Amino acid sequence: MIQINDLHKSYKMGSSSLHVLKGINLSVEDGELVAIMGSSGSGKSTLLNIIGMLDILDTGTYEIDKVLIEDLDETKAAKYRNQFLGFVFQSFNLINYKTALENVSLPLYYQGMKRKERQDKALKYLASVGLADWATHLPSELSGGQKQRVAIARALVSEPKLLLADEPTGALDTQTSYEVMDIIQKINQEGKTILVVTHEEDIAQMCKRIVRLKDGVIIQDTKVNQVLAEQYV
Ligand code: ADP
Ligand code: MG
Repeated sequence: MIQINDLHKSYKMGSSSLHVLKGINLSVEDGELVAIMGSSGSGKSTLLNIIGMLDILDTGTYEIDKVLIEDLDETKAAKYRNQFLGFVFQSFNLINYKTALENVSLPLYYQGMKRKERQDKALKYLASVGLADWATHLPSELSGGQKQRVAIARALVSEPKLLLADEPTGALDTQTSYEVMDIIQKINQEGKTILVVTHEEDIAQMCKRIVRLKDGVIIQDTKVNQVLAEQYV
């Protein structure tokens, strides 16, 4: 699904530059559920944003689904994002004046899908995250966990090959975090490939594989031992 070779990324800071990713090599197969773990500032979001084509690499190569991602301009990035990717963020990023159903159906509107078809499909995805009864509610009427479930339904409604989640539980309490991770695990069990950025060990342990970043390099890449992981829940 993903093949990254010797990826480097720096940010210009006036006359100096900050070398954030220093030679990342990463392969992710179809159907994996991978945590990208590391302390604040280790480069997790930078890596996820490059994978999500919200940012561009300096050197190295990145392939998704055998397509080499290069010479990205905004038009090409937008086309690939629609084709490949769904996003979930810490802050939900829902549109406040639209209902849960309208938020979920919005990506389908941009695809040009007809109203009835998009409503039916959006409702199906809302139901899949347990929120069919909340379709007509505004985000302000939903709990944090419910908002994130709406955001997950919105990310999935366009049937992306890959779901990217940057600290999806970062704004949630422990119990709600586990509920959201239960849904992420369920979606993975149904076949979706998912990358979850987190700095929380218990969240990482709910994934199948943990890639640890430190100061812009991968220092460890391990399968999660499901037996040991039980201790965290
Ligand atoms: P993490 O998500 O692991 O907390 P980030 O990838 O967000 O880390 O950031 C890694 C480093 O890059 C940090 O030192 C951060 O300040 C810096 N950084 C991130 N984005 C930018 C940017 N757009 N411009 C300049 N520096 C950035
Ligand atoms: Mg981050």
